[in-house]
Amino acid sequence: MTTTTQADKTFFGGLSEDFDPQWLLTPQQQTLQDKLIDLCAKVLRPNAIASDQNLIYPRKNFEALASLGLLGLLVPQEWGGLGENHTCAAMIVETIARYGCPSTAMCYTMHLGAVAAALFRAHDNIELQTLLQDLDAKVSIGTLSYSDPETGSHFWYPVSSRAEEIAAGWQVFKRASWTTSAGFADWYIVQTTSPNFDGDYSDLSCFLIYGDEAQAEPHKWDAMGLRGNQSGSLLVDGVVVPPQRMVGPIGDGVASNDEIVDPFFLLCSSACWNGIALGAIDIAKKHVTRKKHVDVGMRVADYPTIQDYFGEAIIDTSACRMYTFSMGQLMDRLTNNCDWSLHADTLALPRSAYLHWYWQIKFSAAKNVAHVCDKMLHACGGSGFKKDMEIERYLRDGKAGWVMGPTNEILRQFVGKSALLGFESLDYWNQSVNERMLHNELKKMTAEDKRKLAEILLAEVDNSETLLKRPEMAMASTGRD
Ligand SMILES: Cc1cc2nc3c(=O)[nH]c(=O)nc-3n(C[C@H](O)[C@H](O)[C@H](O)COP(=O)(O)OP(=O)(O)OC[C@H]3O[C@@H](n4cnc5c(N)ncnc54)[C@H](O)[C@@H]3O)c2cc1C
Repeated sequence: MTTTTQADKTFFGGLSEDFDPQWLLTPQQQTLQDKLIDLCAKVLRPNAIASDQNLIYPRKNFEALASLGLLGLLVPQEWGGLGENHTCAAMIVETIARYGCPSTAMCYTMHLGAVAAALFRAHDNIELQTLLQDLDAKVSIGTLSYSDPETGSHFWYPVSSRAEEIAAGWQVFKRASWTTSAGFADWYIVQTTSPNFDGDYSDLSCFLIYGDEAQAEPHKWDAMGLRGNQSGSLLVDGVVVPPQRMVGPIGDGVASNDEIVDPFFLLCSSACWNGIALGAIDIAKKHVTRKKHVDVGMRVADYPTIQDYFGEAIIDTSACRMYTFSMGQLMDRLTNNCDWSLHADTLALPRSAYLHWYWQIKFSAAKNVAHVCDKMLHACGGSGFKKDMEIERYLRDGKAGWVMGPTNEILRQFVGKSALLGFESLDYWNQSVNERMLHNELKKMTAEDKRKLAEILLAEVDNSETLLKRPEMAMASTGRD
């Protein structure tokens, strides 16, 4: 049964509910969506305009979301949350981006990712449980701090970060180039190399860091779109945290990435790009159905060219939405409707096997949003080029989709390469040698070049063997203390 009235959505003058896959939502989820759409009209959307104009962090929008219990959307009901599932998370993010504020939708995506990372390992961690039970009452905003200044969009490779085991717990050093909500979040899930790091960058661990322990530079944030998102740098400079602030066991980083951080980020960010595409279609529909050309006695919407623009934009966006929601439903099925208790078994990683599918939904949604916003601008003509119609803001916000890590260049290569050469060929941490390329390059060298190279390599081997025998020299040479 659909509970949202047409009037609620047509307040925005956009597409009717005939084009929404409401059958995917439970009656409770539809009721929640109704309330959220109302909140978007009254609070989130007016704030979105101010956020964009003045680079304001959308904390007021988070306060509004907390009034519906949405900060604890995924938290089990016995811990005071809404106990909702993956499909619902995608719907909420899409709705916020479409009717409310895309910057808030992205900050909320990162919040949900951080909440999920905490829920994943909360079963035996009182600190995480306490945090998760207070999200709405305290308007406690979380986020994910992963990207490293030295490795760009390879956010799984934190070369500038590390952690040490000390008597009091852990000493955490995190340097991040981008962190949504940096300086505004109340808590961060950060990833570093593990305390026992020995040069293997796949050995990663996660930590919970509170807002007053991290240094941010929000005054430096100024971007083309998602301007309320405040994705600035973050520094955790040797902060000492107690043992329970490690999220999961030592070395849990890869499991956490593949099972939680990537699936949730890719699901919810795809929903964000779909919501932005729909928001642009809504705005454009409102304009083209009202604007008239007196000379020919027609509205802009009466031209077949314009109808074609909308037909294609709706069909492509519906494909991306169904693709995204289908992955949400798969995650629900894999986890007994998002039952976090199954992770009491730390080896239970049901979402991880489908990583290559999450890559694909993000690629499609991020590609589609840029195209759709562009076409909706064309459909509105010069009027769309002006700020007051809001379509240019949606277009700028949507541009973040392609460049946000994992970027669409990386994703399409992951999919193509793994399909052709196998998943092991992806080599995230630069560990396996491409013998084919190596031998091809060696073929180009003269005998003298090869001799010189061999001497250099032998010297390197001697040097590393000496360092292995005298580890104090190895410490000095890597600069790690
Ligand atoms: C709005 C926004 C919010 C963000 N929020 C967060 C956050 O909350 N937390 C967080 O951790 N990070 C966040 N990020 C960071 C993001 O995930 C990336 O790390 C960041 O966008 C990378 O930017 P860069 O300039 O270093 O790109 P680069 O990595 O330098 O990329 C430059 C170009 O090289 C291409 N490229 C890079 N590697 C490859 C490859 N292996 N194969 C093919 N092409 C490649 C890229 O696709 C791109 O075209 C955010 C980014 C944005 C834009």
